[in-house]
Amino acid sequence: MSSYRGRIAPSPTGYLHLGHARTFWTAYQRSLQCNGTLIFRNEDLDPQRSKPEYASAMIEDLRWLGIVWQEGPDVGGPHEPYEQSKRREFYLRDWRLLVERGFVYPCTCSRKDLALSAQAPNEGDEEPVYPGKCRPAPGATFETIDPAAVNWRFRVPDGETIRFVDANLGERSYVAGKDFGDFVLWRRDDVPAYQLAVVTDDCDMQVTEVVRGEDLLVSTARQILLFNALGRAVPRFYHCPLLRDASGERLAKRTDALSLRELRKKGYTPEQIQEMWA
Ligand code: GLU
Repeated sequence: MSSYRGRIAPSPTGYLHLGHARTFWTAYQRSLQCNGTLIFRNEDLDPQRSKPEYASAMIEDLRWLGIVWQEGPDVGGPHEPYEQSKRREFYLRDWRLLVERGFVYPCTCSRKDLALSAQAPNEGDEEPVYPGKCRPAPGATFETIDPAAVNWRFRVPDGETIRFVDANLGERSYVAGKDFGDFVLWRRDDVPAYQLAVVTDDCDMQVTEVVRGEDLLVSTARQILLFNALGRAVPRFYHCPLLRDASGERLAKRTDALSLRELRKKGYTPEQIQEMWA
């Protein structure tokens, strides 16, 4: 085994489709080429949207496709647990650290406040730029007993350009405060936000390369700020193109037509699926 550590990190919020399968297949191939370790991590943090039946389906579907991982469900590994819903203590540790270092502040804006003042989000990114209403003066301090009841936001360095060399797309750069704003790290419903959980886990699991879809490019820029704020090594990134349906729409978990489940039911083999995106 080399020092390469990759991961596949699906969310059990629906059946995986051809687009996910291609991204995860790419992650698997890159890990294989490097004789690395591949980690399977279940990103089941959202209590409303995550369902155990989708979690078992995604494991089964990816196995069927031929993906093999060395750490995760059924094989375990030194960084157990590999389910985000069981890793709260690690996210709390990093939330505390970031609050203590002055990177994070509580935000009481309601969804309605945000909808009224928000700028349109960037293409492919869901979160509008936060207008800064609750942003405190620099140096403000907050207690770190319990994050519940408010949103906690990461203060981005306005105007700073975040650059990285993507292993697939080449050089990318995003400007903090323009391409994305202060983002939520801990949600008011007491759930750690995706941005924090994924960085905590990629650090703790010593991931050296993150392979993910292009829809997460702006999130990668956010996460680089988090790696730096936590003082942890930034992994390499490889962003995969998104698959679109015949009308040019991004594939979504809502549309079952190209789900691995459906394709399996129709009698496709793993090899035929791989040919569909080749
Ligand atoms: N869990 C995320 C998803 O399924 C992907 C996480 C990542 O690659 O960072 O969209």
